[in-house]
Amino acid sequence: MDNFTYHNPTRLIFGQGQLESLKEEIPADARRVLLIYGGGSIKRNGLYDQVVSLLQQTGKEVYELAGVEPNPRLSTVHRGVQLCRDHQIDFLLAVGGGSVIDCTKAIAVGAFYDGDVWEIIAKRDVASGALPFGTVLTLAATGSEMNPGSVITNWEAQEKLGWGSPFTYPRFSILDPAHTLTVPRDQTVYGAVDIMSHALEQYFHRSPNTPLVERFTESILTTVIETTPKLVDDLENLELRETILYAGTMALNGTLSMGTRGDWSTHRIEHAVSAVYDIPHGGGLAILFPQWIRHTALHDPSKAKQLAVNVFGVDPSGKTDHAVAAEGVERLRAFWDSLGAPNRLADYDIDDSQLERMVDQTMLGAESFGRYQTLTREDVTAILRASL
Ligand code: NAP
Ligand code: FE
Repeated sequence: MDNFTYHNPTRLIFGQGQLESLKEEIPADARRVLLIYGGGSIKRNGLYDQVVSLLQQTGKEVYELAGVEPNPRLSTVHRGVQLCRDHQIDFLLAVGGGSVIDCTKAIAVGAFYDGDVWEIIAKRDVASGALPFGTVLTLAATGSEMNPGSVITNWEAQEKLGWGSPFTYPRFSILDPAHTLTVPRDQTVYGAVDIMSHALEQYFHRSPNTPLVERFTESILTTVIETTPKLVDDLENLELRETILYAGTMALNGTLSMGTRGDWSTHRIEHAVSAVYDIPHGGGLAILFPQWIRHTALHDPSKAKQLAVNVFGVDPSGKTDHAVAAEGVERLRAFWDSLGAPNRLADYDIDDSQLERMVDQTMLGAESFGRYQTLTREDVTAILRASL
C-alpha cells in the first residue's frame, strides 16, 4: 500500500426523514443563508418548499441562486459570489445534484477570495478559506456530497476543470433516498455510469498489496451492476434508490483510495469533451471508459483481466490474458448498452471536426498524464477516434 492520511470532515446524514436535521446542522449564528439550486426539479417535487420552510422555522434570512446548469458554469459561480458579497451571506446550502454542489464549492471559495476564483480553479493560486456550506443531495452520481472536488466549466474558454481544496468539504450532507425518486431514467443511468467510473478510475492503479481496497471497489461495482437494471424499470423503488445513493457516496469519498493512487485519465478526457460539446458527464464516460480500458489493455491486460473475472464473471480458463480482458470490456459495454447509455460520440452528433480541440483541452499543455498508464497526445487521439 502507499502511505495515506485519511480525514473526511463531512457529516453524512443518511436516510428517510433526515431533512429535519437541517435545523440543527446550520449553525445558529449563521443568519443569512444562500440557497443554491438548479433548473427547477426541486420546485416540481416539493423539496424546495420543505427546505425553505425549515430555514424559516429557524429564523434564517433566505437568499437564492437558482438556475445552476448541469456542467456548472463560471458565470453562475460569479453570480453567486456577487450575491454573497451583496448580502453578507454566512452560510451556503446546496440543494441538488453534483452540479449544484460543485458550483456551491466554487462560490464558497470565491466569496472568500479577492481575485477571480478561476485563478484557484485553474490552479494558479490556492484557496485560503471558504464560506461554510452544507448540501441536500437529490441525485446519486458524483460523490461531491462527501468529497472536496468540484468541476467548473469556463464556457468562453472551452475549459472544464476539476479542482478542490481542504476548505471544500461540505460541513454536512443530507441524503434521503426519497429525494432521488423523481430523477428521470436517463439521469439515473448517467449517475450509475458515473459511480461505476469513479470505482474504475480508482481500481486501475499500480500500488502494491491492496487486497482489501480491491474488494471494496469490486463490491461497489457489483452492487451497482446488480441494482441499476432493476431500478431503471422501477424508478420509484425506495430501496433500490437507497442502495445506489449509498454506493455513489462510497465510490468517491476517499475510501477507495486508501493506499492507492487511481488513474483518472478517462475523467480528464470526458471533461475535455463536455467542455467543447456540453454533454452529460455520465454519458461521456459511458462512451469513453470502455475505449480507455481497451486501449490500455493492449499494453498491459492484467487489471482489465481482474475486472473481467472478479466483476463480470468471465471464466479465464484456457484463454490468454488479452482475451479475458477483451471479454471483460465487452461485458462492461454490453451492460451499459442494456441500460440505454450512449455508446459512441456520434450519439451526441459529435464527429471529428473538433477532435484536435478536444485533444488540446485534454492535454492542457502537458506532454502526458495518467497514473496507471501514461497517455500522450497520440493515445488520447486514438481513444477519441475509437469513440467516434
Ligand atoms: P447534475 O448535473 O447535478 O443534474 C443533472 C440533471 O438532473 C439536472 O437537469 C437536474 O435538474 C436533474 N435532477 C437532479 N436531481 C433531480 C431530482 N431529484 N429529480 C429530478 N431531476 C433531478 O448531475 P450530476 O451527475 O450529479 O452532476 C454532474 C456534474 O458533476 C458534472 O459537471 C460533472 O463533471 C461533475 N462531477 C463532479 C464530481 C465531484 O467529485 N465533484 C465527480 C464527478 C462528476 P435541476 O437542475 O432542475 O435540479
Ligand atoms: Fe465523475
